[in-house]
Amino acid sequence: MSDSSISIVPKLSVYPEREIKAKAILEWLVSLDIVSPFLTDCVLSSSHGYAIAEGAKNISEEPELLPYSLMNNGLEIITERRIFHTGQNGIDSLVCPVCSQDISNKDWEFLSEWDDNRSNNLTCPLCNVPTEIHQFKFTPEWGFSDLGFAFWNWGSLKTVLLKISGKSWAVTYPWFIHAFRFTPPESFLKSPKPQPSASPDDVSPKAPIHI
Ligand SMILES: [Zn+2]
Repeated sequence: MSDSSISIVPKLSVYPEREIKAKAILEWLVSLDIVSPFLTDCVLSSSHGYAIAEGAKNISEEPELLPYSLMNNGLEIITERRIFHTGQNGIDSLVCPVCSQDISNKDWEFLSEWDDNRSNNLTCPLCNVPTEIHQFKFTPEWGFSDLGFAFWNWGSLKTVLLKISGKSWAVTYPWFIHAFRFTPPESFLKSPKPQPSASPDDVSPKAPIHI
């Protein structure tokens, strides 16, 4: 089985006091023994993560699918601006909210406006209207934020999240509902700790900042 991650990302380009929020959520997950409190090499990324812990079984309806036996089984917390894309799973369509055209087959240079932090918009290459990036319809969904939580190989994460959302997660963080699966491209798998690429054609994840 190849490694993959599912990320929870707010639909907000700039999250206020994101490091404080990240720390609070991590402490909550640790308090329930869902993840370990210690940073280790347990994620397929240039970063380190918090390994899955015993308590994860208590919030999963499919605990047999949890990745206890895998090397990459942790939670990676991202606190810098990042495009949370789907890796080799690609994209089916990207629809502009103004002209309703699918622009997924256009030059993806238009993403650099957001990626370079020049604005929180995308400018449609067809109608040339800039619109806040979360108004565009990505299928499958992509995330755009400076905060995110990537769970590596937690196959039943969506079920886990439903459990979590019944508790304090959804009450405190109602926008943490943006989940999607990232499967690293082959080049990523061959080199588990690659240098991030700045090429607009390769929107590989950038190195996260430890909190
Ligand atoms: Zn347009």
